[in-house]
Order: sequence, then C-alpha cells, then structure tokens
Amino acid sequence: MIAMPTTRTLAGCLAALLLSIARPGSAAAPNVFPQIAQRAAACVADQRFAVGDSVVELTFDPAAFAVGATPVCRWVAQAATAVAGYFGRFPVRHEHVVIRPVDGDGVHGGTTWGAGDTDGRPLSVIRLGRAVTLAELDDDWVMTHEMVHLAVPSVPRNSHWLEEGIATYVEPIARVQQGQLSAKKVWADMLHGMPKGLPAEGDRGLDRTPTWGRTYWGGALFCLLADVEIRRRTHNRSGLREALRGVIAAGGNIEQDWPVAKIIRIADDATRDAGALAGLYSEMGDAPGPADIDSLWRRLGVVADGAGIRFVDDAPDAAIRKAITATDATGAYSSPALTLGGHYVVAFGAIPPDLSFYYPAYVCAYPNCSLANAQAVQLGAAQNYPNIDLAIPHLDLIFRGGFDP
Ligand SMILES: [Zn+2]
Repeated sequence: MIAMPTTRTLAGCLAALLLSIARPGSAAAPNVFPQIAQRAAACVADQRFAVGDSVVELTFDPAAFAVGATPVCRWVAQAATAVAGYFGRFPVRHEHVVIRPVDGDGVHGGTTWGAGDTDGRPLSVIRLGRAVTLAELDDDWVMTHEMVHLAVPSVPRNSHWLEEGIATYVEPIARVQQGQLSAKKVWADMLHGMPKGLPAEGDRGLDRTPTWGRTYWGGALFCLLADVEIRRRTHNRSGLREALRGVIAAGGNIEQDWPVAKIIRIADDATRDAGALAGLYSEMGDAPGPADIDSLWRRLGVVADGAGIRFVDDAPDAAIRKAITATDATGAYSSPALTLGGHYVVAFGAIPPDLSFYYPAYVCAYPNCSLANAQAVQLGAAQNYPNIDLAIPHLDLIFRGGFDP
C-alpha cells in the first residue's frame, strides 16, 4: 500500500499556520478538485458520472461499505480524473465499474475487460473490503491501474507484458501529475520495484518470458526506459505520455485488438522521435535487453537514502526525471481566514479531509480569485501581504500537488 503523504501529517499536526506571500502565480492549469467533487456527487446521486464526452457507470451497493457512498465515489472519480489527465481524455466512451464487497478492509484487486459487460462494453470489476477505510481509498492504486488498462489496445497473449507494464508504470505517474502522490514516493517505488523486472538467467526477452516479474515490472521498466529515451531525443518536449496519447488519437484502446508492432509504430510517430519505442522493442522483445539500471538511476539523480530516496538535481537527466513526475493540476478551496496584524492565518483544520493532503500553493483574498491572479505561498515564515485585501474574511487557497521539494 502507499504511505500517507507527509503533508497530511503536517496538516494534522498544525492547528494553524502562518502563510506568507512571495510572488505572483503562474499560468492557468486544470482545476482538479471541483471536477473530482462534481463527479463524486454525480456518482452518489446516479451511480454514473461524466468525464468529458465519456461516462463511467458504477454498479455497487453503498450500504455494503462502512465508509458510505461518498468516499467510494470519490475514489473512483479521483482515479478517472487522473487517467483522463494523463491521456488527455478518458480512454473509452463508456466504462462500467462493478464494485464487489468482500470481507475485511482494503482494496483487493481488480480486472478489466474490453468487452466485458452485457452490452459488450469495457468493464472493470473491483473487489473492495466492506470495512475499507478512507485512508485506504485515498492511498489506493488499483482503481487507477484498472482504468489505465482502458487506454491500451488488447495485444496477443505473449505480449501481455505491454498491457501490464503500461498500467504499472503509468498508474503512479498519472496520479503524481494530478497531485495525488508525491514525486519522492513515485521514484522510491520505482527504485524498489524496477529490479523485479530485470532479466534473470535464461531470460528470452519480454515476449517469451511470461513470469510475473517480467510481465509487470519488466513491462514497467520498458516504459520507463521508453519515457527517458523519448525525452532525451525530443529535448524533453515529449515523453511516453505523448506517445500513448497518439495511440488513443488513432483509435486505439482496450476495445481494439492490435499487434504490438502497430501500437509501437503509432506511438513512435506521435512523438516524431525516430523510433525510440521500436528500438527498445527490438532490444527487449525477444532478447533479455538491458540488465543494468544503476546507471539509469545515476543519470536521473535518484539515490537510495535509508528507507527512502534523495534527488540529485545536477545529475545529467535530472530535468527528465522532474518532467516525468511534474504536477500540472491544481484545486481551489475557500477557507475562513483570521487576520493577525499584517498576516493571514489559515487553520488547516478548516480544510476538508479529502483536500488536506494537498498543499496550499497559491492564495488570494479578493473577489474572482484564480491561479492567474493568485500569489505563491511559502509556509513557515510570517510576512506582510501588500497585495491582498485584508478586509475579506476568507482565503481562497489554490492547491497544487507535487509537495516534495
Ligand atoms: Zn493490470
């Protein structure tokens, strides 16, 4: 399971925190929290919600789960929002999500089919503990993993690693890009997990070695190597995300049966990078491929440090590492505010629990607050606020994920 983001602990520990204002906000970015809240509300009311032109339809019994309907709906809406953000749109027109209650707590796993429901449309079945907790739903990766599967055309059985590899690799990246995970957590998990995907003695390549490690983590390693290679070739302008968006734009998703070569050709064409994926597939498809990833971590600037990791920002590919896990999502919340002399004081306790793990990054205290006119927040030092109206009794907090330095 994924550990609690550090800022939730911070939010819980600090009853109030002084905000200081440093510099104007940056350009507008998608505002994620209202989308998640609207989708969750529609889900509670109708057991379905829209994501752009797509519909996610749920079948579940809210009374089966001790937490009630809203957290379950928010969990599904959060995953759908992360996946739509990564791929630029929700990958299929209609997904049916069946949530089956099982004994105990936790999220117990899921399966997704391209033509699984009675209408022949995409279906995910997720087994969810009747006693699942709010923290388990917030930390869950399974729902997002299953929805990433929707974006990948079905491939022949021996190339199953491509489907699972993309789901394994993209799931945390989609979540960190929407501010649902920290970059440090994502890279720590990759540093820990990727060695499970390395070729063992006698390996015959990803297409011919259908072990668990090679299928999930070997496929994820293929994706990481592809992401880095595409970014090197395009000077960090495109990555695997743009390649996979190209597959969706060409009509590829779980409802289609495509050979691997077609996916790779279309994905390579989408980034105009002269065949990064094709090159990797020829190295790793029917041969063991690269077996040393230590040099990859060194170049990216990811170093094991006790139980966690630290980043080395002058590593040669540090900019690529930062781009892969950059967060481009924000959310907004209006908090009651106390003014104290020339300072604002915001009580973290006033922020709803479903937002408290996001870090307030920008603040306004005047009408029509938006990211364009907000000011960046630095926590921990009290300063004066020359540009906000101290007469307004609330702060409009704009959150941005990616709370690691
Ligand atoms: Zn999977």
